Amino acid sequence: MRSRRLLWLGPIGLVALLLLATSALETARWQARAIGVDLEETEEGLRVLKVTTEGPAARAGVMAGDLLYRVAGRQVEDFDTYDEAASTFGTDARVDFEVQRGGRRLILEVRPGLPFPWLTKIIEWLACLGYLVLGMVALVQLPSDLRARLLMLLSIAVAVELALPIELLNVPEYALFSGPFLVLLIGVQIGLELHLAMSIPDRQRFGRHRNWLVPGVYALGGGLGLFVAATYAFDSAGWAALPWSVELADTLFWEVGNVVWAIAVVGLLVSAAYRGPDPLSRQQTLLILLAGLPWSIHVVASTAAVWSGSFYPPWLEVAEPLVLLIYPCGVLFAIFRYRLFDLELVVKRGLVYTVLTSMLILVFYGSIGAGGALLTRVMRGGDPSIWLVGMATLLMGLLFGPLRRAAQQLIDRQFFPERTALRQQLVKVAGDLPARGSLPAMGRELVDKVCELFGLETAAVLLGAESGILSPLASCGASGRAYENLLISTTDPAVRLLERTGRPLPVDHVIAKSPSLEGRLQPFDAAILVPLLRREQLIGILVLGRKLANRPFPAEEMELLNLLSHHVATAFEYSQLYESATRDSLTGLLRRGAVLEALNRELDRSIRFGRPLALAMVDIDSFKAVNDRHGHLKGDLALKRVAEAISEGIRVTDQVGRYGGEEFLVVLPETDFEGVHVVAEKLRSLVERVRITTDNGEEIRVTISIGVVAIDQYSAASTRPEANELIAAADAALYRAKTGGRNRVEVRRATA
Ligand code: GH3
Ligand code: MG
Ligand code: MG
Repeated sequence: MRSRRLLWLGPIGLVALLLLATSALETARWQARAIGVDLEETEEGLRVLKVTTEGPAARAGVMAGDLLYRVAGRQVEDFDTYDEAASTFGTDARVDFEVQRGGRRLILEVRPGLPFPWLTKIIEWLACLGYLVLGMVALVQLPSDLRARLLMLLSIAVAVELALPIELLNVPEYALFSGPFLVLLIGVQIGLELHLAMSIPDRQRFGRHRNWLVPGVYALGGGLGLFVAATYAFDSAGWAALPWSVELADTLFWEVGNVVWAIAVVGLLVSAAYRGPDPLSRQQTLLILLAGLPWSIHVVASTAAVWSGSFYPPWLEVAEPLVLLIYPCGVLFAIFRYRLFDLELVVKRGLVYTVLTSMLILVFYGSIGAGGALLTRVMRGGDPSIWLVGMATLLMGLLFGPLRRAAQQLIDRQFFPERTALRQQLVKVAGDLPARGSLPAMGRELVDKVCELFGLETAAVLLGAESGILSPLASCGASGRAYENLLISTTDPAVRLLERTGRPLPVDHVIAKSPSLEGRLQPFDAAILVPLLRREQLIGILVLGRKLANRPFPAEEMELLNLLSHHVATAFEYSQLYESATRDSLTGLLRRGAVLEALNRELDRSIRFGRPLALAMVDIDSFKAVNDRHGHLKGDLALKRVAEAISEGIRVTDQVGRYGGEEFLVVLPETDFEGVHVVAEKLRSLVERVRITTDNGEEIRVTISIGVVAIDQYSAASTRPEANELIAAADAALYRAKTGGRNRVEVRRATA
């Protein structure tokens, strides 16, 4: 995927290079004919507005205020006729300028030609390069991030604009295309830049209004560009007279449109920097704003200069390319400063790809050339050139794609083996998960593998969003056990943030949203939170601890985690759907219906084969008080821990289900009256030992009361008992346990 994306850079870079080369040639041609004057079209004709000191015109004695009359033997009246005359200027040849000065006609000999403006051009090239690099980094690093994609498109549009040979705008033969192209390009930039500014710091900004706001800004920018492009095209092709003038379109676009655009971008960024959800994103926005501000000020200042009728100040002209350079520099700095992207990897990879792909192309063409020459020699007398070239081209077209792909796979394997291996292993982990069968087994496999592959100290996976509470499914590592106490509500702002952004985020970034979560995550030294999303809905979270030796997570690994999370979420969702029919999501125990079904099955079996069967009804003591004192979240945790203790205390052939809110039904096949008493006592004492620590370090303890009944004792009454009779009997015993002081086991007496 990544390598294919990188290949886009080839054509884009080539186009930019061609445009830059054309632009440089055009500038050189233009400069060769320049004489160093500013001209103005007036009623009387072309007037010299300003003469550059030390320029060719100044040296020949041209002065401000002169009216041009004839140039190179041609009459000149306006810009068009002057341009025609200027097109005949030769290098280093003298040109006669006939001017009118104070009623007198003078003939001045001008030798056109200004030096090539190296400084301006170099700054322009650097800015173009800066934008291309910016586009490349965004393209390679975060292809799934809307903002990165917008930044990439915007950067390429600006780079193309900077590379455009602007001098061609003044050449009549090209005017039909170059003018409309430029305004269309800028129209697209307006749409892209406003969309981008609306998506900082994240795409949730403006919520539902985005549905019309986003198409709106594109319609506005594109529409304006289209309107002006059409006006230019009609004007230069002379197709038909439009009801409005070119001047009107110019004013609308270059003065009104540009200023509104610049102010809107600043406004959007200021409000984002002011209202960002956390300090980090506010800082980032502020930095992007600072980088973009010079451009906005430049636009507003130069338009104000035109409006006020004053002359375009020379410093503004000098500032333009510099101003354009600040923006890519600022964003690149932001990338380094905030480690938005893994720049080192991009550069290293980009270089390796470029070198190897060029070598491949060289070898390819070289062998075609050599083969052609060889064939020509073998087939003496014939004229193989035409069909040979045809065949070679066909062959090249057929072979180039596969060869390139093979070369890239080779590059990945040879130069980035660890990454390729990691990616393959992660894909395998995700693929193997469903084969684990149960959800807990899948969870354990996932955290074990993630810990191992990324070299983590701890990891845990939390699931259960449909119940509104994310609870730990499995954990690994030294402090892994501590995760068992971690329950997170899906309405927690940090969880919401994860769901919204939909990609792995550093813990520091997330907990800024939720101080309560910060406290709870602290003991685990968590580093990254990975949301598990299905159709943009969060179903769980993968919590990753720090890496051994506290190494950082490079951006590429974050992307791999993102990829993994999508596969894992799908596997979990299917498994969850399957289990949710029979299992309770909080405790993982059987649901009421399922445990009753199990009871009926076991009852049939025990009567048919005359085997013992026992039943235990468990209820947590004074559980309301736990909820009241410590909150429902801790109450749920206690429930989960009690469920675990009960599961731990029974045999694999026994079945336990959540019968009511905090009541459990345990079905114990092959257990008689004596046996069930022992088991129940064991469960009681296991639960008694459960400890749950609250956020302020307090310990919660819970106890249970148990009512038991055994069929051997019961069936003495004669006929086959019904399941609900057994349950009623266990319930009655439970009631006695409660009234008898709680935290105890009561059996149904045979005589009852
Ligand atoms: P007793 O010793 O008599 O059993 O007292 P008790 O407070 O436990 O009373 P009861 O058995 O009637 O328990 C009902 C309470 O259990 C109500 C509710 O607060 C709590 N409860 C029930 N289901 C849940 C649940 O899913 N989560 C939480 N946190 N609490 C629950
Ligand atoms: Mg109860
Ligand atoms: Mg109770």
